[in-house]
Amino acid sequence: MALTNLTYKEYEAWIPDLPRTVQHQLYGSFKNYMSSLVFGIKPKRWFVRAWVPLKVLRVHQDGSMKGDKGAPVVLDFKGNTIKLRQVCKNKPRYVIELPMPNWVIERVNEDGDIKFAMIGLRDNEPYLALVAERVVEPYQPSNYMLVIDVNAWSNGVAWGLIRDGSIIRWKPERPRLSEIETLYSLSIRLSREYGRLKRLGLHKTVEGRRLWQEIKRVRRKLYAKLRDYVQKLVRRLVRKALRHRALVIIDDMLEESRRELLEEKIPSGLRKLYLAYTRRFVRLLITQLEWYGVPYDFKRLPSTVCPICKRSLTQLPGRIMVCESCGFKAPRDLVPIHWALRSKNV
Ligand SMILES: [Zn+2]
Repeated sequence: MALTNLTYKEYEAWIPDLPRTVQHQLYGSFKNYMSSLVFGIKPKRWFVRAWVPLKVLRVHQDGSMKGDKGAPVVLDFKGNTIKLRQVCKNKPRYVIELPMPNWVIERVNEDGDIKFAMIGLRDNEPYLALVAERVVEPYQPSNYMLVIDVNAWSNGVAWGLIRDGSIIRWKPERPRLSEIETLYSLSIRLSREYGRLKRLGLHKTVEGRRLWQEIKRVRRKLYAKLRDYVQKLVRRLVRKALRHRALVIIDDMLEESRRELLEEKIPSGLRKLYLAYTRRFVRLLITQLEWYGVPYDFKRLPSTVCPICKRSLTQLPGRIMVCESCGFKAPRDLVPIHWALRSKNV
């Protein structure tokens, strides 16, 4: 991937022991290898191991075009389709049309460009990966800092905005846990019911099939809710950082979150789900910050240690933390923001 990226940025990359087939893909002509890209046959070994870069032609709404006119991948923003030419069958003018994903349109509207695509196998299925890039304007950090403390979903994400060394706003963000927990317990209850039918050999009956469809529907709804929440929260935080030209500090203590969830005796399936979406949140946040060129840094911001005298804090009911030695007192979600405030780079 990295090599392809460099090559398409017109660097010449020399790697010893690079398989000849890959070398040809990078520096030679694609044409001779088109037949290797036929789907539906057993892929050749190099196809499994290496992703193949394909040139992309972009046809914009005003009819202007960018890229090689003979490119095998065409992104058509007039008809919002992706056309794969001659890729799936080595026949002249053979075209497959795919719908254009929304994110591609969004990235292009944000002055992004897709100069190349990669084709390869993901989970043994042919997969076309579009690589969006954008020339990022230099980001001039201001006197703002946005601190993002990532907990497991049950305690959400706390953010704080710091200006000139003081906290001007902070907020813990949580998804609607009751909705998620209701869907989760419903899916568990239905799965148990399905298990019971299966043991009786009745899972292929009309009732069994209907139940299975219902389980799938509940799970889809549950995942969609979590995914939607992650996306909206990331978007909101990135906008906040951009608006204030803030430097972003992230604490993603996933291990601590896991322990916290264990303490709270959350069912293990739900715990896994919360952790998976916490990781997803961090990944998406980083991707978006990088896309917009927002500088960020990871920092350890403890929530159980006093930010003033560094002794252990005691937790009172309502997630209030107090320091018995210096008298510091704050909601648990605010403690990490206090740590960021006192860190040297502010
Ligand atoms: Zn203290």
